[in-house]
Amino acid sequence: MGICLCKGKTTVPESYGYQPAKPSTPPPHQQSLRPRPETRFAPPSPLKPVAQPDSILGRPYSDVQSVYTLGKELGRGQFGVTYLCTESSTGLQYACKSISKRKLRRKNDRDDIKREMQILQHLTGQANIVDFKGAYEDKNSVHLVMELCAGGELFDRIIAKGHYTEKAAAGICKAIVNVVDICNFMGVMHRDLKPENFLLATKNEGAMLKATDFGLSIFFEEGKVYRDIVGSAYYVAPEVLKRRYGKEVDIWSAGVILYILLSGVPPFWAEHEKGIFDAILEGQIDFESSPWPSISKDAKDLVRRMLTQDPKKRITSAQVLEHPWIREGGASDKPIDSAVLSRMKQFRAMNKLKKLALKVIAENLSGEEIKGLKQMFTNMDTDNSGTITFEELKSGLARLGSKLSEAEVKQLMEAADVDGNGTIDYIEFITATLHRHKLESEENVHNAFKYFDKDNSGFITMDELEVAMKEHGLGDDATIKEIISEVDTDNDGKINYDEFCGMMRSGSIRPQQPMKLK
Ligand code: ADP
Repeated sequence: MGICLCKGKTTVPESYGYQPAKPSTPPPHQQSLRPRPETRFAPPSPLKPVAQPDSILGRPYSDVQSVYTLGKELGRGQFGVTYLCTESSTGLQYACKSISKRKLRRKNDRDDIKREMQILQHLTGQANIVDFKGAYEDKNSVHLVMELCAGGELFDRIIAKGHYTEKAAAGICKAIVNVVDICNFMGVMHRDLKPENFLLATKNEGAMLKATDFGLSIFFEEGKVYRDIVGSAYYVAPEVLKRRYGKEVDIWSAGVILYILLSGVPPFWAEHEKGIFDAILEGQIDFESSPWPSISKDAKDLVRRMLTQDPKKRITSAQVLEHPWIREGGASDKPIDSAVLSRMKQFRAMNKLKKLALKVIAENLSGEEIKGLKQMFTNMDTDNSGTITFEELKSGLARLGSKLSEAEVKQLMEAADVDGNGTIDYIEFITATLHRHKLESEENVHNAFKYFDKDNSGFITMDELEVAMKEHGLGDDATIKEIISEVDTDNDGKINYDEFCGMMRSGSIRPQQPMKLK
């Protein structure tokens, strides 16, 4: 049909009022999470290793080549080159996206890379989302190591095939909307959904589709209005062009992809970007030209609902997954352990001091670090009571694709409910789902130690531990003794900083009780 599905991100003309994103002021819920005077942290000791001043990820440099061997180039994007890489210790292959710091001169660009890593870390483990393995930074580059998707881009398969059968298109659409559903539930707005950003996990027929590029994604807050114009021309929602949008933009883009899957051409097309944007704002969709007359009513109905101009009237991701055309067409995706679930399981196996130390760290985190978890908490707390009940946790974890028995959910509930009042509050949720990466920060661990070591003696004594634990309604004399003896490796009856660090860094102090996943 002579239409080129050109690749690449859009540059929005001046007439659409493009301005670079501005930093936003923290919303009220974050302001209320500022340290309270009695827990305000002392500055970290100058003796402790701290991140290099020009560090982007905010942690000490580490050499990716000490763990992986970088191989051939797999692809290139705006900032980075993705290489095949092999883990030296196991011989397993991964993909490593290396971003040259020379190209990241503007603060916005540096923040974007850090955010992309945080989002990958937050979403890893979900079906249809690439698994994140780790991040490294040296003097010259930032490296993001992730699962290798050997099957190539969905984009190339569309070009090769022209268009798909309805059944195949429904399967792809389901995978894409599943990504939207998970992202939105976990507090992430993707903002750049397009076929190029989906890769196939393997070369096999029926390989799982994986979203890989979260370079334009952000942690969002429900109800907040977003204004920066980002995305790629064909896929951008009308409300983005009007600079007033929220998470519904992802469904629009998925609708554009579905239209292309079914017909081989984009629904809003023109020679130039300005023409494409005008067509999007006009919203006229062609269902008359070939092959549309032979496409089922249900398929057209879904496209229409996804490409509804008014975001409030547009179909939601949950409704798409329930739509008859998707339910019948799409194959089911196998559930895997989400990052959030595995962190809750790790948390369960920790001793009380470590849990409390994590709580102290969680109480003092702010901004991007917990935005996704905050939105997830709100999404799980369906009755808006400010706490998560057993039922809410059960259905929230099920939505993430986890198949847990009642007893297993109960175990997680009890583990996260640090104060034992029967529900999980906001701080308890953040504490139990906090990424281990936060523990790698020397500053956080050091500050937590200082919180317990009230008299600044360099030791946490039995009395100090007792005060801290009782303040939080935790522990009797017997458990406090038990904790001290577990952590106190030099047997002097108190915990010094090295012993505390050892405890925080170890996998878990208590032997992990196995939890079976069905
Ligand atoms: P950018 O965000 O800079 O555009 P991308 O994340 O899109 O970069 O990656 C650029 C290219 O690298 C992709 O088009 C793809 O071909 C390849 N690539 C990216 N991630 C992977 C991966 N996990 N497995 C295999 N190839 C990948």
